[in-house]
Amino acid sequence: MYRSHNCGELRINDAGNQVTLSGWVHKIRDKGGMIWIDLRDRFGITQLILEEGKSDSSLFEKVRNIGREYVIQATGEVAERYAKNPNLETGDIEIIVKELVVLNKSETPPFTIENETDGGDELRMKYRYLDLRREVMRNNLMLRHKMMQQTRRYLDSKSFIEIETPVLIKSTPEGARDFVVPSRMNPGEFYALPQSPQTFKQLLMIGGLDKYYQIVKCFRDEDLRADRQPEFTQIDCEMSFVTRDDVIETFQGLIQHLFKEILSLNITEFPLMTYDNAISTYGSDKPDIRFGMTFVELTKLVQGFNFNVFDQAEIVVGIKAVGCASYSRKQLDELTDFVRRPQVGAKGLVYVKCNEDGTFKSSVDKFYNAEKLREWAGVFNAGPGDLLLILSGNAKPTRESLSTLRLHMGDELQLKNPKDFKPLWVVDFPLLEWDEESSRYHAMHHPFTSAKPEDIEKLDSSPGEVRANAYDLVINGVEIGGGSIRIHDEKTQKKMFDALGFTSEETEAQFGFLLNAFKYGAPPHGGIAFGFDRLCALFGGSDSIRDYIAFPKNNSGRDVMIDSPSKVSDEQLKELSIKLDN
Ligand code: ASP
Repeated sequence: MYRSHNCGELRINDAGNQVTLSGWVHKIRDKGGMIWIDLRDRFGITQLILEEGKSDSSLFEKVRNIGREYVIQATGEVAERYAKNPNLETGDIEIIVKELVVLNKSETPPFTIENETDGGDELRMKYRYLDLRREVMRNNLMLRHKMMQQTRRYLDSKSFIEIETPVLIKSTPEGARDFVVPSRMNPGEFYALPQSPQTFKQLLMIGGLDKYYQIVKCFRDEDLRADRQPEFTQIDCEMSFVTRDDVIETFQGLIQHLFKEILSLNITEFPLMTYDNAISTYGSDKPDIRFGMTFVELTKLVQGFNFNVFDQAEIVVGIKAVGCASYSRKQLDELTDFVRRPQVGAKGLVYVKCNEDGTFKSSVDKFYNAEKLREWAGVFNAGPGDLLLILSGNAKPTRESLSTLRLHMGDELQLKNPKDFKPLWVVDFPLLEWDEESSRYHAMHHPFTSAKPEDIEKLDSSPGEVRANAYDLVINGVEIGGGSIRIHDEKTQKKMFDALGFTSEETEAQFGFLLNAFKYGAPPHGGIAFGFDRLCALFGGSDSIRDYIAFPKNNSGRDVMIDSPSKVSDEQLKELSIKLDN
């Protein structure tokens, strides 16, 4: 027997009992006549004590030869602690050690196994198994586990069935590059790893397996950032005989269930916002609605006053930063530098200070007199003390830049409380998006998304105006999930591939199986998928999904612990009929 209890279990009413614990040496304090060891396992920390007179002197010798992260087994008596530690669940007791066995040694770890560790990112990734010993990491994975269990519980209670779909498939277009896997048995041919199980879940609906879900790995070869990994996890779902509102209601229920069970929060408001509205008021299709600072358009009001920048702009649009009229020259210069960064992309920033004394100070007061500026302030509903920040240029990039500035101001003014959760559904996305580079339309969601019935006839005449029967769930500026009501007939699906510029041969080769399935009584269906890693990070109050994945990849898509990707042997290449250039 390695242990009678774990390291998080003993309490004051265990005092007097003989126990055996096993775990890692978290910390040792040696005061000569007394030695304390913090013993740690997955469940917590328990203090061990060696006291002259109470513990055998040979034990002192032994303990002085062990170090951090040694794995030991200790047997002794549970005793009430003289100095209790209220921060530790086991803080009322300690174990007076009678026997101690070293189960395994440890080299000195390359970083401290503490919540606030001294280890940098790369080092922690290389020694991820040590990183995982830290309480924060363990708690993150516990949160993930609970989210998974609660997701299954909710979906099961709603009669969803969990079905696995294959991983070696062929391309499912979700807008990223595929990871491909060569097939030894079919020389020169490749599988693609699923960017999502999209086509399979639709085939399940055609197979009559209404209400499918799967917590599933998806693979997308795209540039990485804090909230992206080449392999990530989705809660993937599909239902038959549903409208948009049925799907929204069911999955709003899932998110509410998770908030309730995991964070004890009752979140009731899930407003619906159209894509157009989101873009014109927040400049983003994933608006953070924890704070206002909504966009105000001034285009008409400000043109015709010889200020070239505004006169030539397609749009002049701004936000109001409440109480920021007191910003110094330096602060305003910093904001200007911020919007000029290549990632933000604006050329300059116009400000108007609505001073406390009723006067106005602006970077453009050469062109606009006080009366005019007062008029602008009126449109913004700005009062004394407020600051207006205005950008201008082409509509799309200008709105995007202003959205970034708005989020930045939200940070500056501490308006983004991580404990405050504000979900919303963004609906009525455009079905197609014009891509300048390839001079053709792309599906904004994916090619299986249906159009809103009232827009369908525009698919030939003005495809860019067709709205999709699609929806995204956004929480605090993060796109948490997205889905759509699907096309379920061959003719419309073919038309969609046409609109996307596929030749009928390409359509047949890539999606013939689906079009064929549509011939055999495909039910109307729709679904959604949630980014599970993002959902965990959001619930955990973090921006980085890596902290919620046991073994993530770094920014170059590498697993630095197992050193992958890596070369394969010449024999393997030969078997796969692959010749490398170098
Ligand atoms: N397959 C889609 C995605 O991965 C989700 C969906 O349409 O259900 O974004």
